[in-house]
Amino acid sequence: MKTRILKVDEKEPQAERIEAAAKIIKDGGLVAFPTETVYGLGGNALDPEASRRIYAAKGRPSDNPLIAHIADFAQLGPLVAEIPEAAQILMKAYWPGPMTLIFQKSSLVPKSTTGGLATVAVRMPSHPVARALIRAAGVPIAAPSANLSGRPSPTRAAHVLEDMDGRIDMILDGGEVGIGLESTIIDVTGPEPALLRPGYISEDMIRALFAGLTVDAASLGPMSPDAHPKAPGMKYRHYAPKAQLTIVRGEMGAVQEKICSLAERGLKDGKKVGLICTQESRPVYEARLSGAGDGLDLVIVGSRSDAASIAHNLYDVLRSFDTAGVDEIYSESFEGGQLGGAIMNRLKKAAGYHILDV
Ligand code: AMP
Ligand code: MG
Repeated sequence: MKTRILKVDEKEPQAERIEAAAKIIKDGGLVAFPTETVYGLGGNALDPEASRRIYAAKGRPSDNPLIAHIADFAQLGPLVAEIPEAAQILMKAYWPGPMTLIFQKSSLVPKSTTGGLATVAVRMPSHPVARALIRAAGVPIAAPSANLSGRPSPTRAAHVLEDMDGRIDMILDGGEVGIGLESTIIDVTGPEPALLRPGYISEDMIRALFAGLTVDAASLGPMSPDAHPKAPGMKYRHYAPKAQLTIVRGEMGAVQEKICSLAERGLKDGKKVGLICTQESRPVYEARLSGAGDGLDLVIVGSRSDAASIAHNLYDVLRSFDTAGVDEIYSESFEGGQLGGAIMNRLKKAAGYHILDV
């Protein structure tokens, strides 16, 4: 299959380009498109054959359910058995936006889209390209992140092409996405809302609306292989670069000291060492490691004073280490603030929960 790349204006997408992409979706094909979180790999959410194609293109286990994307509130009713009051409150606060809700599904939604579950995940994105495509297709669009299963999610069209060239019909290139981390997922089928995956909309922001919010254990730590978490995708190793990533956590001076000694050891052994730092900390590593060997790949992920920059660049940085072919990676830790929960959730998964406390 030849993958067509079509550039599209991210603010005012050209109608004829959106139509061309929508026709592919209507015909059962696959189109990758930008959302405000990451690039999605879209197919008709109501067509079992389209979901099978999505799983095949991603190499994704078919018990890992897909999120159905809608553009208008009127599209929600037909997909779900009921709309609980908690959902109404959350939708009013955060739709359109980077928040996914889990509902009991209606019979309209095929189980191939929901990984065999009786529930369905629904999100209304705010990105103009995503909204125009969903409207033009006239159906909800199932869209997991447009990466090969286990790779970091794509935040630009070039990342999608790296993973999906020849596997899907089209990539709508609407430039770099804004947030750079996947949506917050909240299950509203129980007595209290449950946070399944943190995102740009943080645990604190949801707790401000629901003091009784519960947090699914799967979003906090590693899952055993035989566990049955609420969000099945959580049991798989996700967002992983090819080299082992180690997070060093603690007081900043001690963290930098530890990272330097680990990097020095690797470099001395002739390894290529990737290091995730910030604008603020880069000079420290540069000064200390300048004479330690030429295998150092020191990458700035963003600024401590702007956590959004760290979220925005994280997956691109993880991918860049694959391209550079590093042997081991060390990262500082980025807790705190609105985005700390989401950033650390992804970074820990990428590290396979390999964390050193100093
Ligand atoms: P992605 O497609 O990579 O953004 O991730 C989709 C994730 O949404 C899955 O891996 C699940 O964790 C979650 N999800 C989707 N549908 C459901 C559902 N019905 N119940 C619980 N979690 C879901
Ligand atoms: Mg994904």
